[in-house]
Amino acid sequence: MTASATEVQAPTIPTAFQDIPALTATDRCDATTTTIREGSGTANPRVPCGAQAYVTALFPSGSVLLFCGHHGHELECSLVEQGAVIRDDSNVLQQNTKPGASA
Ligand SMILES: [Zn+2]
Repeated sequence: MTASATEVQAPTIPTAFQDIPALTATDRCDATTTTIREGSGTANPRVPCGAQAYVTALFPSGSVLLFCGHHGHELECSLVEQGAVIRDDSNVLQQNTKPGASA
């Protein structure tokens, strides 16, 4: 078996992505979560995640959603199925993680 050199879906970043500024600490995850209030057992639907965003999903319509690393990875398949192109900046997280700095 030889590796075929045919161009296999080279990740094409739409030029629209170039118009989206780099994520900053003020960008927050758009995902909502359902939490269960401790003790009450009552579901609290659609609580905004609000974590710092590291993943950008650009939809064909031009709309953009931001996600934290957790939700970005969790929802990536679903987003791609909807035609979104994903830009994952979570490598910044790893760069900022110092070895031995774990709690
Ligand atoms: Zn999130």
